[in-house]
Amino acid sequence: MAALQDNSARRVKDAVDIIEVIGEHVHLQKAGVRYKGLCPFHSEKTPSFTVNRERQFYHCFGCNESGDVLSFMMKYHNLTFPDAVVRLAERYGIELEESKLSPEDLKKTREREGLFAANKVAATIFHDFLLKNPAAGKARQYLEKRGMSREMISRFQLGYAPDRWDFLAQALASAGEAEQVAVAAGLLVQRENGGVYDRFRDRVIFPIFSLNGQVAGFGGRILGDGQPKYLNSPESAVFNKSQTLFGLYQNKSAIREAGRCLIVEGNFDLLSLVAHGLQYVAAPLGTALTAQHVKILKRYAEEAVVVFDGDLAGLKAAMRAVPLFLTEQLDAKIVVLPEEHDPDTFIAAFGREALEEKVAQAMELSEFVFSRLVKEHGLSLAGKNKIVRDLQPLIAAIGNRTLQKSLFVSHFSDKLGLKAEDLFGRGEGGIYPAGPSLPAKQRKQGLKLSKQYERLLEFLLIYPEALPHFLEAGLEELVDNENDFARIILDQLKDLDLVGQGDGAEVLLERLHGEEKGLVARLLIEAPSYPDDMKELLVDELTTWVRKQAWQNRKSRLLRRISQAQAAGDDVLQMELLEQKKKMDEVSYT
Ligand SMILES: [Zn+2]
Repeated sequence: MAALQDNSARRVKDAVDIIEVIGEHVHLQKAGVRYKGLCPFHSEKTPSFTVNRERQFYHCFGCNESGDVLSFMMKYHNLTFPDAVVRLAERYGIELEESKLSPEDLKKTREREGLFAANKVAATIFHDFLLKNPAAGKARQYLEKRGMSREMISRFQLGYAPDRWDFLAQALASAGEAEQVAVAAGLLVQRENGGVYDRFRDRVIFPIFSLNGQVAGFGGRILGDGQPKYLNSPESAVFNKSQTLFGLYQNKSAIREAGRCLIVEGNFDLLSLVAHGLQYVAAPLGTALTAQHVKILKRYAEEAVVVFDGDLAGLKAAMRAVPLFLTEQLDAKIVVLPEEHDPDTFIAAFGREALEEKVAQAMELSEFVFSRLVKEHGLSLAGKNKIVRDLQPLIAAIGNRTLQKSLFVSHFSDKLGLKAEDLFGRGEGGIYPAGPSLPAKQRKQGLKLSKQYERLLEFLLIYPEALPHFLEAGLEELVDNENDFARIILDQLKDLDLVGQGDGAEVLLERLHGEEKGLVARLLIEAPSYPDDMKELLVDELTTWVRKQAWQNRKSRLLRRISQAQAAGDDVLQMELLEQKKKMDEVSYT
């Protein structure tokens, strides 16, 4: 909970206005006491991103992202916590005594700043060399041959690293950059016996930008025949390949505008598409697509279209991406190119319109998976069994989203001539049924709370000090009539001892996950504040409701036991229970 212990963070949060900060990035409009805008974390057409000034808190009803001004900065700009604190402090002129940042955080922040700075200088050196130096002639010719105009070169700040071991090392030294920082950034490589050498030699250089526009790392393609064909910067404190997409920084507004993002594999695939006017495209960095990539894309696009190479390796990579889309719930389609083509050669040969036509005809995930599996296993009985087996991880990836799951499953059951049940949830240990025969416990997991319980929870989140009243009235007895989330939330509330803690809601949100977190965030955003007299009235009203509900629960339990005793012919027990019932009726809440 660094967030809450750190004085600097507290100071920044107290000093800035969340509406002002978020308003710099999202167009917010006042809606009652709240503000609404289009969510920056998922793609949408009607605003469901809501900010509550009074609570200094935001929540999106579409994607369930929520948090305070610092978590907004972290997510929006891909910053670490201390970086978010520093950034806001600088932007709003809040003085941070540096000693208030923990020495470790301060060191990390300084380290990252150093790496970004060294990368920026290196990108300029490579770029200038490509544009101006006679020794870069063959690199310029190479890029021209691959269709890269001068404008493309400057838009993506492409560069060239000459075929020398000390070019960058010397250039950085003359620019005053520290050697060890350049080593940490992966620009230079430390020799075992001392000294350093350039990592990138005789390569076209592609700077890779963070979403923030800082140079996080580099990719380099060899000009000659050497190996490896592509070389990337190693991971560093500012460069994480599984979270970074080439071209996303440059193309993000085009992607958002199109509402869709083409995903290609190679840097030149991406550049070639952009050069042909298709700007809604991004590329993982020579690595497989990851769940984090998909999560990031979801902020910009409603739909992803995978356009990998037409060969077997490309198809296999596309298959591996399928579960990620299913898990992250990003609509996705797959374009299958002719076997001998990649996106670069295809658009060069047939032009933009032909590729756009391919995109328009892209296959749904289920269709693509089906065609791949049939190709691999055939439709014999044995083949169908293998298909069913291979489908299990994909069905599992859909999670418990019933509608999507049944759509996906019915696609296959129709085509395989099987019953949906034969596909559904056929785990390692055999078939377990789905739908109405799920155990009662699981069926209760819907998000819906009874209206009155929701009111009570909403009240508790704002005024946790009322919890003891409700517990005393029997809250524990009725929480189990609600769903599982109600129990989780109540246990956390009890555990937190939130009374008097201004940050209680934040702590609670940090502790919750998934749907229960979404539920609490929604209630926090919606809950009104009450004047004191009104608040007391509400405590009374809600306490009475709890007491009555608990009483009714006890009574129906008792009635059940009475009829059981009657059925069993246990007269003694029956008498005893009837006596209890009489006592209960004296209180009478009915
Ligand atoms: Zn959202």
